[in-house]
Amino acid sequence: MRQAADSFSRRTKEELARRFPARECCARAELAAIIHATGSLHFQGSHRLVLSVESENIFLLRKAFRLLKDFFQVRTEAYIKETECLGRRRRYSLYLRGKERVKKVLVACGIMTRRFELEGGINPSLVRNDCCRAAFLRGVFLGRGSITDPQKKDYHLELVTENEDFAYGLVYLMDLCGFKAGLNVNRRKDSFVVYLKDADAIGRFLSFVRAYTAYLRLEETRVIKGMRERVNRLVNCETANLEKTLRAAWKQVEIISDFTGKEGLDALPEKLREAALLRLENPEASLRELGKMAVPPVSKSTMNYRMRRVLKIAKNFTGEKEIFSSEGNRNNG
Ligand SMILES: [Zn+2]
Repeated sequence: MRQAADSFSRRTKEELARRFPARECCARAELAAIIHATGSLHFQGSHRLVLSVESENIFLLRKAFRLLKDFFQVRTEAYIKETECLGRRRRYSLYLRGKERVKKVLVACGIMTRRFELEGGINPSLVRNDCCRAAFLRGVFLGRGSITDPQKKDYHLELVTENEDFAYGLVYLMDLCGFKAGLNVNRRKDSFVVYLKDADAIGRFLSFVRAYTAYLRLEETRVIKGMRERVNRLVNCETANLEKTLRAAWKQVEIISDFTGKEGLDALPEKLREAALLRLENPEASLRELGKMAVPPVSKSTMNYRMRRVLKIAKNFTGEKEIFSSEGNRNNG
């Protein structure tokens, strides 16, 4: 279950990692979002400032690396490190070292002021244009987003963050882009979850951030799911009718067999005897089918009438109580 959800999420992110912004404004917005979502600042050795971006997805780091190189002309140093936790996936880290370099990127990305203060929320200058809003949301999804496999019953897309200001900023930004997102506080994990649950909205989000393949896959699955639900409803309905017919027919066979065992069949008028024999020979046939087998053929309602009379006589004869089950006019044979 979890694997399937992961793989759709993962494929969506791989697709997004391949989309490179054409404009510098969008590159800045996307890189800012990636750093906001997955970056952290720390000192190393003799007060050397380090910005690290950490993720399970190597393609996200490759993208961040290329954005830094192409748009900020800074050299980064990336290496893979395994997590210490057993059973968890490998994590990858990208490092940018040196106070001046780190500051240059963070100030340009609107994450840090020139006085070295960090911004918690989303800097409005990053998301003025529609193109940049899409790039920003793409970056956040790449860093901390996930989407449930559309094959599953419920649709769900979420963005997770530990920063409250950032969470409210995301809800506001989503709203600006036409998405009514929900916000959940996960107290246990100390995190905020911005989510979409409506399949239409999720589809629009995927297409907005340019995950076109994922969007098509979602829509295709929705169509197939809708069709399957309709077919299932029809089949269930047919099956229920068929079961009723069969249950009633077998009940008739049981009663009539009991009756013939007591040699009552000869006592029946000819037409009724024919009906009883047809039922015994064709336990699974509908009344309409039995009617067609009669000589001369009769309608379903005539056969129904004859069968009821047979059963009534049989009941009197054998003392059987419950003989009329649901077979009546309900099924169409
Ligand atoms: Zn832009």
